[in-house]
Amino acid sequence: MSRANRISWILLACGLAVIACDRDKDTAPAQSSSVSAATPASEPLRLPPDDGPLPSVDGDRAMQYVKEIVKFGPRPLGSASHKKVEEYISSHLKGDQVEDDIFTADTPEGRFPVHNIIAKYPGAKDGIIILASHYDTNYPLRKTSYVGANDGASSSGLLLELANHLRGKQREGYSVWLVWDDAEEAMKPDGSGGLPNEMPFSEDSLYGITHLAEKWQADGTLKKVKAFILTDMIGDADLNVDRDTNSTPWLEDVVYEAATRLGYQSHFFGMQREVSDDHLPFVKRGVPSADLIDFTYGYNLAFWHTTEDTVDKLSPRSLRIVGSVVLETVRILDKMDPLPPK
Ligand SMILES: [Zn+2]
Repeated sequence: MSRANRISWILLACGLAVIACDRDKDTAPAQSSSVSAATPASEPLRLPPDDGPLPSVDGDRAMQYVKEIVKFGPRPLGSASHKKVEEYISSHLKGDQVEDDIFTADTPEGRFPVHNIIAKYPGAKDGIIILASHYDTNYPLRKTSYVGANDGASSSGLLLELANHLRGKQREGYSVWLVWDDAEEAMKPDGSGGLPNEMPFSEDSLYGITHLAEKWQADGTLKKVKAFILTDMIGDADLNVDRDTNSTPWLEDVVYEAATRLGYQSHFFGMQREVSDDHLPFVKRGVPSADLIDFTYGYNLAFWHTTEDTVDKLSPRSLRIVGSVVLETVRILDKMDPLPPK
């Protein structure tokens, strides 16, 4: 990832509200028709009944993908290992409908090839749900052993596992597009210290996903996107997915409902922050978006953007939890008709 702006520990009040809420959900009947997590949407959501088979993602297989991505080593833009990871992702999508969005990005470190990979699984309903993850690693750390096991690899491995669930099935709901986006990380050290090499994150990041949002806006695709769900840093064995204040409240409420139906709600939204991440270009263009990110990674963020971001910090269970919640969120969205206004 990117960065958490003004890390806002809006807790106490908020955290207590969530705890109370969890209790309510635990005792509520399965067919609950409204959600209330921290900062609920203004209107109660009309949710479909909780009557379908709950999805279960294979966390071990997802972890295997994560390990294989990490094995290529650091994968900053322009590196040979970056190219190998592109090929690795594509090789798992053989036979699927894949769009390659390739362009050259102008960055403060020069011009670099950027490669977004999109796998499309068509549905009967008119509309698209996007599930996204970046796969590149931080460029300023390229000469270290930094491999971004959680930051980039965890969510990218999970998307490969989600592809296994979507492939070869007739979807009655919306089309689901998986997006492995590139060049998310800043090219220069990200800081506000005003040092010569530093740049504001907003001016030096999100190259791939911004290109995709612009392209889809120009060709009309964006109008069909019903929801954009981003996963980032979701492999941490100590899983606490944040509630992001840049995301769309009603969509986060649906995610929370999905987590509750699966019994995983204690891992979601105990903390609230404002996160700058790959969802921003879609948020800015009015697409309902949710960033599922666990930014609390190691004591005092000791593992974030450091060589400590390695696979031993991750767990297959966390991948299973987030993957299952994402698929259940899609299932709920498929049945919500109409979806709330943007
Ligand atoms: Zn990062």
